Amino acid sequence: MTQRFLVTGGAGYVGSHLVAALIAEGADVVVIDDLRQGHRVAITAPAELIVGDLADPAARAAAFARGPFAAIFHFAALSLVGESMADPLRYFRENVGNGIALIGDAIGHGVNRFVLSSTANLFGGDVEIPITEQAALLPSSPYGESKFMLERVLAWADRVHGLKSACLRYFNAAGADPSGRLGEDHDPETHLIPRAIDAALGRAPELVVFGTDHPTPDGTCVRDYIHVTDLASAHLAALARLDHGSVAYNLGNGAGHSVREVIAMVEAVSGRRVPHRFGPPRAGDPPTLVASSARIQEETGWRPRFPELRDIVRTAYAWRLAHPDGYR
Ligand code: UDP
Repeated sequence: MTQRFLVTGGAGYVGSHLVAALIAEGADVVVIDDLRQGHRVAITAPAELIVGDLADPAARAAAFARGPFAAIFHFAALSLVGESMADPLRYFRENVGNGIALIGDAIGHGVNRFVLSSTANLFGGDVEIPITEQAALLPSSPYGESKFMLERVLAWADRVHGLKSACLRYFNAAGADPSGRLGEDHDPETHLIPRAIDAALGRAPELVVFGTDHPTPDGTCVRDYIHVTDLASAHLAALARLDHGSVAYNLGNGAGHSVREVIAMVEAVSGRRVPHRFGPPRAGDPPTLVASSARIQEETGWRPRFPELRDIVRTAYAWRLAHPDGYR
């Protein structure tokens, strides 16, 4: 029988890539998205869209009326570290509040598998690199804390109600669907790779590098960029694993790249200069975040198809060239 899935935030960047992967597998997909960040045209047909806010019980009821669902993938959330440092309570209200409501509905409707978009921002302080799932959880921002809280809620939802969950801690999602149909379109765009590309194309002001005195080899922050298509396939791999019990996986490529290295790669791929200047560090930014994804690889056989930074930047650049105004 065809399986039916609910994807919250399925019109957003990572969610839309997962919806495409589910549709390619022949699944039925229902998306709930308030389209604040998501784009209607990013949803792969024949997925069904319910426009609504998870905070609204009527919108959630409309989504669950389209069930029963074999699993829920929960992407819809606020996701900006800087914004969360300025307004922490909003992050707890929206991310934690809506997440708890959704988990409660899942339990009430007999859904027994749940996949949460979590984050590398769970890890901070003096964490050993690469970061394994054994590392202490010490969120460095209210955004990370909000995801940490939902991971704990899910642990109890399993213990008490038997809801099996996968918490997927994305490191830096980047790149674009290699077919060229889907890509990254945030407003405002805060992420390094699309900002550097837009600066190279002359579509954005010069890039500001956030800090040059971090304790890293070249003084700029080091991140582990993972291709969005590989993130999508990791969701399917993690879902299949839930028959063995709940899991948490760190998702990256195990390779760190500094901001300077990313700028150099955008210049190499585009053949253009990335105008940039050096500015102060951004609050809440840990100097280095690099994942060990050994656990998901061992337990599910998942492998990234696009582990190289060059391919990540190449697909992001191709998408931007073809869609200079994003989905508009
Ligand atoms: N960054 C930067 N300038 C920018 C945007 C980002 O120097 O305009 C840096 C940021 O400090 C971080 C890295 O690039 O070290 C990746 O940032 P991004 O916002 O893409 O993802 P995050 O690591 O915050 O999830």
